[in-house]
Amino acid sequence: MKLYPFATALVLGVGILAAPPLSVAEGLPDLGEAAQAEFSPAVERRTGESIMLEVRRDPAWLGDPEINGYLNRIGNRLAAQSEDARQEFEFFVLRDSTLNAFAMPGGYIGVHTGLILAAASESELAAVLAHEISHVTQRHLARLINKSGQGQVTSLLALAVAILAARSSPDLAVGAAMAGQGAAIQNQLNYSRDFEREADRVGLGLLERSGFDIRGMSGFFERMQKFGRLYENNAPGYLRTHPLTTERLADMGNRIQSRPYKQAADSLEFQLVRAKLRVQEGAAHDAVTEFESRLRDRNFAGAEAAVRYGLAQALLRDGKAAAAEREVGELRRLKAESPMIETLAALLRQKQGDATGAAAILRAAQPRYPQDRAIAYALVDSLLEAGQPQQAIKVTEEDLQNYPSDPRMHLLQARTWSMLGRRLQQHRALAEAYALQGQLAPAVEQLELAQKAGDGNFYEQSQVDSRLREVKKRMADDAKQAKDAKK
Ligand SMILES: [Zn+2]
Repeated sequence: MKLYPFATALVLGVGILAAPPLSVAEGLPDLGEAAQAEFSPAVERRTGESIMLEVRRDPAWLGDPEINGYLNRIGNRLAAQSEDARQEFEFFVLRDSTLNAFAMPGGYIGVHTGLILAAASESELAAVLAHEISHVTQRHLARLINKSGQGQVTSLLALAVAILAARSSPDLAVGAAMAGQGAAIQNQLNYSRDFEREADRVGLGLLERSGFDIRGMSGFFERMQKFGRLYENNAPGYLRTHPLTTERLADMGNRIQSRPYKQAADSLEFQLVRAKLRVQEGAAHDAVTEFESRLRDRNFAGAEAAVRYGLAQALLRDGKAAAAEREVGELRRLKAESPMIETLAALLRQKQGDATGAAAILRAAQPRYPQDRAIAYALVDSLLEAGQPQQAIKVTEEDLQNYPSDPRMHLLQARTWSMLGRRLQQHRALAEAYALQGQLAPAVEQLELAQKAGDGNFYEQSQVDSRLREVKKRMADDAKQAKDAKK
């Protein structure tokens, strides 16, 4: 792929708004269509999507719908405050104890579990997200690629893979294989001081307008610096990609001091998410001991519910569902309310062989939390476990009317159709799950299996035929675009 240098005016002037390249190019010198197309937000998004295919296969990928749902709510709340709200974002979590967060092309922002656990407040976590969001909305990645020169950077894709590989994950083969190459590209990728300052300034605005405590920004970066000293020469990845200077800290301090002070209490969800992540680290029994002692010492800074929730999760992991259920009883007594408590209560019923009871808890919770994805998934799962696939199909069909592009629900539906012995429908649902994740070849394969299944009516059969034509056309279009991009 050839990379064309941009005129500075185009990059700085209009690059800030992620507007379609054709409309912004009006009145500017003609750079050639290829140059505009290569760096358009749409191309960035597609690049990001293909990297995400790899990321989702990474063993460190955390598919937990509750943790993902939480992170995306916080992230989108911040992004909604940016000047150009058209940029789409997807926030995801990687299971990695190092402190890191990074933005990839197309608005995909990754956060390590270590960073979520190290944040001292919700505002600190929001500050890091706001900073990363700002790198995206300011199109820093595209500007960097342009600056680093086309000779050394072969493609956006290689670059982004290098970002991923550069995060310290010695347990991953890709990390080892890419380490050398990654480090070389990483050096070019390090955001400049100007970009860092801009991301701080823009991010601070997002943080403030979203109602978070703006001191979260300096608080977190100061702690990062302390960690950096502890790591000595091996600074956390975040500091390598986002160089932190005394000047930057001073800048932030000045800006924060000039703003009115506003306190923002941590949400219960933030505390529950952290407790859940904490429990997943290390041995289950150690987690039980830790949460028990925090409870005994009443060491929970006002958030008794989060500690009891953590203890219940730890007991569940340790195979003590009945004891965990007693903690859920305590949560009810404390009047703690969260969809995460409902899914846990249901899971504990199910673990003790009462899938019908689990489904009843989730059915009762659904009207209160109609948009909660984890509750919807758990409900289908409990109905299948309870041997009620007919009920489960109804739930998936209603749900997919509101969330047609949710691959996970399509997967659950495929499982349900399979229990009902409906082969055409099973393969069709699987095909949707693949197609929605950009895996077109396996989607075609499933649709062809659906065609051959022979257990559908005329209407279902023709639906499969037309869907197959659509997916094949998309594949051909993609191949053509990839070929054009190489020219
Ligand atoms: Zn940065």
